[in-house]
Amino acid sequence: MQTIRIYYQCKAGHRLTQDYEVHPDANNKIGFDDIFRMEGEQKIRQYDEGRQGCQCGERFVKVRHLKATSNSNNRKCTASCKNAQSEECDCSCNGANHGIAHKPAQQQPQLLAEEVQG
Ligand SMILES: [Zn+2]
Ligand SMILES: [Zn+2]
Repeated sequence: MQTIRIYYQCKAGHRLTQDYEVHPDANNKIGFDDIFRMEGEQKIRQYDEGRQGCQCGERFVKVRHLKATSNSNNRKCTASCKNAQSEECDCSCNGANHGIAHKPAQQQPQLLAEEVQG
């Protein structure tokens, strides 16, 4: 299964990073229904989340797909990767930590555990 990471920034400057599962159909096409994340039993489509906007009520003015490009240069993963708002990650985490500082608070403890291991 493929996942993508989306970074959002609202008009008021709030930042949000979310990961979504990508489920192409039998013809390998990806539609609005095929990119989503599960929150408990609830299926949340990326399309809806992006349109719905920020919790503060503002709409998102930046929506970016964060992705790893290459880890061939073995550049050390630093705080700037975790705080990333740009699309590309080229450090040694290979995209794993890219933009995670903007994840929702309830997802942070898990991320801290990963940090300790690394
Ligand atoms: Zn906001
Ligand atoms: Zn990194």
